Amino acid sequence: MFRKRERRVRKNMDPVQISRLEEGHHEPKKSNLSIEEDLLMGILEAGKDSLPNEFLAMLVEKKGIICELQLIPGTVAGNSHAWLPQFMRPPDPFFKVVGTVHTHPSRSFRPSNADLNYFSRNGRLHIIAALPFSMHSWAAYDQLGQRVELPVVSSV
Ligand SMILES: [Zn+2]
Repeated sequence: MFRKRERRVRKNMDPVQISRLEEGHHEPKKSNLSIEEDLLMGILEAGKDSLPNEFLAMLVEKKGIICELQLIPGTVAGNSHAWLPQFMRPPDPFFKVVGTVHTHPSRSFRPSNADLNYFSRNGRLHIIAALPFSMHSWAAYDQLGQRVELPVVSSV
């Protein structure tokens, strides 16, 4: 009975929701990127400062280490997801943008369906940080919304 019901539910779900459902069955895969501790702290601070709104930026890497944010000009923070239109993105050839970071003014750092759609079109690594903006209230995801283990390295 349960199985039958589950199958029916899954049939009505879109692929993004299914990949989210299956997320729990996998260990987070290791990223070939890492993030500078100072930058991560800065993101958590920005999350706090932006309350009750969200903070949103692009992640920039140098030699495999995410070490900079590309702020998006004209970003309007809102307490719903205020994603920018594609044409507002910075030009990739000049910045090694690998993905995005944004914050949630809630305790959930799981991607919403809108987040998953955005991830799939905007790079390969995405960070979500949530309340209380501590070292334990954030997570990294790949473009499919699967959890990724992102090592934190001390800044040089
Ligand atoms: Zn979100």
